[in-house]
Amino acid sequence: MSVRVIDQAGIRQLVEKLQQEAKVVAPHRREGRDQWAFQEVTDPDLITLEYTTTTLPPKQFAWPPRETLIRARLGEGPVQAEPVVEVEPLVLFGVHPCDIYGLQSLDIAYCHEHVDPNYVARRQQMRIVGVDCVPDEWCFCASMGTASVDSGYDLFLTPLDGEYLVEVGTEAGEAMLEGITTREPTAAEIKEVKRRLAKKLDQDHKIHTDYHNLPLRFAGAANSPVWEKHAERCYSCGTCVLTCPLCMCFDVLDEIKLDLSETRRDRVWDGCMLEPFAEVASGENFREERFQRLRHRHFRKYAYLFTKFGRPYCCGCGRCVRQCLVHIDPVEIINDLLEEHEKGGVTHGA
Ligand code: SF4
Ligand code: SF4
Repeated sequence: MSVRVIDQAGIRQLVEKLQQEAKVVAPHRREGRDQWAFQEVTDPDLITLEYTTTTLPPKQFAWPPRETLIRARLGEGPVQAEPVVEVEPLVLFGVHPCDIYGLQSLDIAYCHEHVDPNYVARRQQMRIVGVDCVPDEWCFCASMGTASVDSGYDLFLTPLDGEYLVEVGTEAGEAMLEGITTREPTAAEIKEVKRRLAKKLDQDHKIHTDYHNLPLRFAGAANSPVWEKHAERCYSCGTCVLTCPLCMCFDVLDEIKLDLSETRRDRVWDGCMLEPFAEVASGENFREERFQRLRHRHFRKYAYLFTKFGRPYCCGCGRCVRQCLVHIDPVEIINDLLEEHEKGGVTHGA
């Protein structure tokens, strides 16, 4: 696939072309704040391609916070439930490598064993234009191997002094660039992209081991005091799970009209850091304590799903610690567990 250079006018031209074929969603700065959100593009000049991170990840466009899965009319005869799949062609423009990794990870989870038709239909209608970023103090993508990606996008932009190097990832990406003004990159520009990645990998916020070691390091850490140490500040607000690009738990709610004429089944985001998440009908709660919920969340990301799918279910985007009121930090938690392991203080058990 080819590599080109595009300037700001070319970016505008590209966005306008894509808008003729699909809804285009891109990062926008929230007025008066250092916060960014993916929003539908109305004016290409309002897009911010150089941003730290969005508050909510782009998973919301593949898997909305609330969606109807089935509808049924109730009446005299047998009930016929109709599946509901609401989907439209969409371009996610300006997605960071960590978030591309996040979407790829959801693809694996949602197509494993039971293929989720709603999720798959949206992903099939989705095109991705990635963009490289500069990590802030909470990012730890270098530790998780997600500072760069070599797939999962149609086009990928790397900023180059007012212009962008464009890497084409798919045939759809080649088609996107047809008719758009671009030029050949120089050898110096290719070198600059490599230098930029090397600089990005030099992060202070990092875990003190190769991430491949994490499932092994978590084994036997269930009874560690590290969980209580970090969980004692937790408000159980659930912000960390709702802002995480790789958290994917949901609840299913049935709503029936009072006159019993119609029913609807909705799927809504849910999260294991919320107290009622593990509560069952009898009122029993399998993870009643905050440390149990914090432990479960981390075991799931760095051990259970890692072992099941062969990749960590954390991309190091830092949203959980950045958005957490008390900055409960997976990097600190993991490094505490590693230190405990080094000291031989690992406890085996439940
Ligand atoms: S965002 Fe922080 S306080 Fe809220 S549930 Fe997560 S760890 Fe706890
Ligand atoms: S656990 Fe935190 S750092 Fe990791 S992907 Fe989720 S929000 Fe990002």
